[in-house]
Formats: sequence, C-alpha cells, structure tokens
Amino acid sequence: MSNIISCKSLHNPDRDIIMSNRLTDTFLNVLIIAGSRIAKTEDQKRLIVWLAEKDQSAVGEGTVGFDIREMPWNVETFEKDKAFMLKTIRHALNKKHWEKLGYEPNEKYVFPSLEQFAELIGEFEADDIRPKERTEWLEAAEEDDPINNGFPVCPEHKALLSIYGCQICRN
Ligand SMILES: [Zn+2]
Repeated sequence: MSNIISCKSLHNPDRDIIMSNRLTDTFLNVLIIAGSRIAKTEDQKRLIVWLAEKDQSAVGEGTVGFDIREMPWNVETFEKDKAFMLKTIRHALNKKHWEKLGYEPNEKYVFPSLEQFAELIGEFEADDIRPKERTEWLEAAEEDDPINNGFPVCPEHKALLSIYGCQICRN
C-alpha cells in the first residue's frame, strides 16, 4: 500500500510523489519536526497541523495521500507561507532535529520525496489555491481541536499537535 502526493493543477502525473506507508510516516515526521519550530503565524501553524492530521495510526494506512491544492492555503499570505513551507522542506533535508526523532530516517528514501515535494510546492501558485478547502477545514474543526486552542505542541518533539495527538509519537 502506498500514499500519493500530487498537484493536479500541474497536469503531470509523472510528478506525483509515491511513497510506501512507512516512508510516508517518515516524510511527515521530518517535515513536522522542522516546520513546527519555525512556524510563526497561525496560517503557517495550520499548514503543519494539517499535515499532522495525515496520521496513519488514526485514519488508516495508505489513506493519507493528498493534492497540494487541498492544503489550507490562505490566499492573502500565500507568498510568505509558501516560503515557509519551502524552508521547512530545506530544514528537513538538512536533517534538522532528527536527533529528537528516536530513530534515523533513511536519507536514501526520504530525500528524493522531500526534493519532489519542494518542486511541487515551488511551482504551486496563488492561482492554484482553492479557498474553499481552507474554509471548510476550519469550519469542520471542533472546539477542542488544537487549531482552536492555541496550537499546543508535544513536550517530547515540540511538534504541533493535531486532533489525534503528536504524529511523531504515534507513528
Ligand atoms: Zn511527540
């Protein structure tokens, strides 16, 4: 089983990132541990929490693929948030905070996926945003959702929590 990250607005299925379930967990672990520490605004924290919701231990293995257009991009702050996401990927490629993960991700597998993700995000433009995705995601969040409660982090990983908890502790 696998998960696929794509961006359909680029109209090129060859660019899809196809990852095994285990690799998907690692890919998300390294993005979340890096991005949680440098997210400054609520919109940037939301992007990381949204990724943390792709928690296979909660929602099922092989069910967390997504299209980049589904992410909760804010049209108004897009350029800054895109730069934030690219910086998060760069930090992951620089193995930032990997010593906190409790295991050593295999660069051979996770680096190519991170590089592909950087390419997809790099080419993603404000015109590609579907504002409804963000609105609906925000509206669906319950009162006790971390995004409505000051964005708590895991004490162990300093990772932003989703409704399911810490994606790194759980996967
Ligand atoms: Zn944790």
